[in-house]
Amino acid sequence: MIRRAPQRPAADPLVEACAPAAGPEILRERGQWEAFCGLTGIIWLHRKIQDAFFLVVGSRTCAHLIQSAAGVMIFAEPRFATAIIEERDLAGRADMNDELDRVVGRLLERRPDIKMLFLVGSCPSEVIKLDLSRAASRLSQVHTPRVRILAYSGSGIETTFTQGEDACLAALVPQMPDETAADGRSLLVVGALADVVEDQMRRIFAELGIERVSFLPPRRAGDLPAVGPLTTVLLAQPFLAETARLLENRGARRLSAPFPLGVDGTTAWLATAARAFGVEPDLFERVIAPRRDRARMALDRHRGELAGRSVFFFPDSQLEIPLARFLARELDMTLTEVGTPFLHRRHMAPELAQLPPGVLISEGQDVDRQLDRCRAARPDLVVCGLGLANPLEAEGLTTKWSIELLFTPVQGYEQAADLAELFARPLRRRKMLVA
Ligand code: SF4
Repeated sequence: MIRRAPQRPAADPLVEACAPAAGPEILRERGQWEAFCGLTGIIWLHRKIQDAFFLVVGSRTCAHLIQSAAGVMIFAEPRFATAIIEERDLAGRADMNDELDRVVGRLLERRPDIKMLFLVGSCPSEVIKLDLSRAASRLSQVHTPRVRILAYSGSGIETTFTQGEDACLAALVPQMPDETAADGRSLLVVGALADVVEDQMRRIFAELGIERVSFLPPRRAGDLPAVGPLTTVLLAQPFLAETARLLENRGARRLSAPFPLGVDGTTAWLATAARAFGVEPDLFERVIAPRRDRARMALDRHRGELAGRSVFFFPDSQLEIPLARFLARELDMTLTEVGTPFLHRRHMAPELAQLPPGVLISEGQDVDRQLDRCRAARPDLVVCGLGLANPLEAEGLTTKWSIELLFTPVQGYEQAADLAELFARPLRRRKMLVA
């Protein structure tokens, strides 16, 4: 869908791959833009928090969006649904709050396995000004302590799709207990990671001697980690501006690090945590070296296919800048343009410092003008949303859906080669088609 663009809310001794480069050129655009909405985040969040349920309060369009994105993967009881806002609701002939209370009551009666319920707002619920935060507190009085009921917005009005996760995690922050002095220092990794990636990270932190490590979101609703001034936050995803802000308001200290995409990104990310927790460089090297070397060898297999090829990013997932850094530095690809929906300068500073000099970064979008630039550049690969991919393929350009990067485990050493493969595959497919 196309909407108006939103108004946006040093050398490390442990890291060998982070030489700073000259500041990039930034083009700001505020025209029509094309992106999915925040409801999309439900697809990976419902897998992560295994006893949570996501109830979208929206239209049939919203229901179709999440069903078509995830429906084929449901084999057991689903953990998301849509409470449809009908025409009579829109016309004000029904009390939406009464209907919502009935729907929630029926759902929780039938599903005792649900421990956390998210009421997820949509464009229609925002347009009719249905206050889901108030509904969540009203329903909490009835259903707490059995179920915790929270609300956040997944609306596509002036947002991009990864902001759904940010809004969901931001709703969890006020629920996190205060840490106690007896708890001692802890590391809090923030951002939904696939379980396999989370397990790998836990093992590495344990081997580094960082003992108290927790993840947000947790796998179980009852396992929300504590937060406070003894908490050190390490963001695992680059799109969590609001969540980070709320955690910092609770006293936590955020580490500034590149994101764990690719071998160098993962090393720099881990090194930042290691330095903050006083890990000896020798121990860091002993723990990291075998994994880093294996991952580099696995990446080498893809360099031949990708080196020298040009790539153009349309703004969509907010992963674009870390991905561009990975493709340019570790696979020798050429960056034509790196579009990002928003540029959070503080969170992105370590990434920007590693981009090649002179690369064009665009923030926001004017989709027609950007399409013109893309057509003129004729890049080897275009990373974009689903809505642009098919028309560009029809024009002979090779595309990669950016949303796939959220559905696939891509962070960490063991996934670095898989991440490269995601970019190599469409190029291979194109070669076979034209052969
Ligand atoms: S929340 Fe808005 S953008 Fe998303 S599916 Fe519903 S109507 Fe469409």
